[in-house]
Formats: sequence, C-alpha cells, structure tokens
Amino acid sequence: MLNSDLHGKGSWMWRKLLKLRPLAYQFIRFEINDGQKAFFWFDDWLQMGRLIDITGAVGTCYLGVARNARVIDAVAQSRWNIRGQRSRHFHDLYESIQNIQVPQEDQGRDKVLWKHAEDTYKAQFSSVRTWDQIRVRKATVPWSKCVWFTQGVPRYSFIVWLAVKNRLSTGDRMRAWGIQQGCVMCGEWDETRDHVFFACPYTYSVWDRLAGSLCGRRINPDWSLTLQFVTNNNLQLMDKILLKMVFQTCVYYMWKERNERRHQRGFRTVDQAIRIVDKAIRNRISSLRYGPVHRFAGLLQRWFEVFDRP
Ligand SMILES: [Zn+2]
Repeated sequence: MLNSDLHGKGSWMWRKLLKLRPLAYQFIRFEINDGQKAFFWFDDWLQMGRLIDITGAVGTCYLGVARNARVIDAVAQSRWNIRGQRSRHFHDLYESIQNIQVPQEDQGRDKVLWKHAEDTYKAQFSSVRTWDQIRVRKATVPWSKCVWFTQGVPRYSFIVWLAVKNRLSTGDRMRAWGIQQGCVMCGEWDETRDHVFFACPYTYSVWDRLAGSLCGRRINPDWSLTLQFVTNNNLQLMDKILLKMVFQTCVYYMWKERNERRHQRGFRTVDQAIRIVDKAIRNRISSLRYGPVHRFAGLLQRWFEVFDRP
C-alpha cells in the first residue's frame, strides 16, 4: 500500500472507492445556499444531473464558467453571470439557471442531500435506503428466477446464467479470435447461443421430447421465447418448478454434449441424451426429499406424469 502511495496512484482501497464515485453521484444532490461548496459543472445542484454530462466540455466556453468553478463563481453583483442566452443549444439551460434564486452569503452553507427514494432527498445518509435502491435496480432482471431457484443445481444454474448473458464460447464469439467453428451437432456453419438452445435440430429434439408436454403449444426453438416462457407462465406450481428444472438440465447437458463432441470425446444420440437428462432430473428430485424442501414430495410423481420416456 505504502509503495503505491509513493508512486502517486493511491492505495488499492482508495482506488476502489474512487471507482464507486459514478455510482455515488446518482444519489447526491445539492441544495444551494451560499454556493461556496457545490461545483458548478460537477455537482447536481440544478436537479437535472451534472451539467458537464449535459453540455459536454464545450459547455464551459458557451456559458463562460470555468471548469473548476463553484456555483458562487457564476454570480456577479447578486445576479447570475453566465452567457448562453443566444446559444441555440444552451438557451434552455441558461433559462433554467436564471430561474433559480442566486446564492447569497447570508443563507448559510450549501447542503448535501442524499437520495432516500425516488424524489425524496434528505440531509443524512442512510446505508439501508441506499442499498435498497441499488438492490431493487439489480433485482429487476426478469430471468433471474429461472436461473437461480431452490430446486436448481448450482453447476447447471451457472451454465444457464452464462447462456443468458451470452458468455458461452460459441462459434460466433470465438470468431473474434480468428477461430471458425460450426455446430458440432448438425453441421450448421454459424454456431450461436440461439442455435445451440434450441434452434439446432439435435438439441431441439431433446428439448421438445423432455419439455413438450409441460410447454404444450408454447414449445419453441427460439431462445428468447423459451426463456420468457420458462420465467413467466401460468402453469401450476409443480409444473413451473419442473419446467425450470428441465430447462436448466437440458441447457447444461446440451452444452456438455457440444463440448464433448468438439473435443472428440464421443457423442450421444437424441434418445441417449434424453435418458441422461431425465435421470439427472430424477436424481435431483430424489435428493430434494432429504433436504429442507419437503413440500415438494409429489414432484417425482408429477415428473413421471408429464414426461413420456422413450
Ligand atoms: Zn446444430
């Protein structure tokens, strides 16, 4: 730590904190009183975000306010001292500033306000309220519940998660490194995530036979339609769970099959692949019986009902 300090880069922790600044900025707002604390270009004092982000660097010339100015520096003789009233681009900004009360020394110091919720700003910082806002934003990804769920198998979930983010090393992604790679299951020249799940005739046959009766006429080779349906459907609770399980097990084993073929470690026919996925699902359901999820005891029975073994 000391070493890097000497080299002028600051400590590891300090640099990490600096990286969080953009995240923190969206929670901070200034209430202008004497205008001595808030920076004109870099603090949100007009309640429209940072001015530098709105105007870009040229804004400093158009408005005639220096880049490092505090808000009070844009005031002369108790009036706003800014240019831009005749600028086509910055006229609106000019007007909004003119409409704001000019900061005055006897009004006390500028106040930093911290966002507690949409349109609620308070003088004190609350880590709970802040975390809530960050958390809510992250939790809104619609597919999260079909990737991570109680009955899921973590290593399957991980592959599904990579697939959702399109981070699996499919041919289209490898092309950037000069590697040409077609589908090893059907010979299609362009191997993409959407092809493997489940536009490929091989993988689709497996998916169709395993999930066909759960999906009914909603069974589809299209990746986004499938992901949408697995995430959000009107099936009864047990079928919802089974569908998520079939989906993640299928994605996992189809990706495994693809890798084994690619590295010439053998291949399975459609029927063999279906048996493997079916067995993996039954094993997972059986293991749940000994875990804390007792209320799903009927799950295995239901799986026997909805899945026709080859
Ligand atoms: Zn294929």
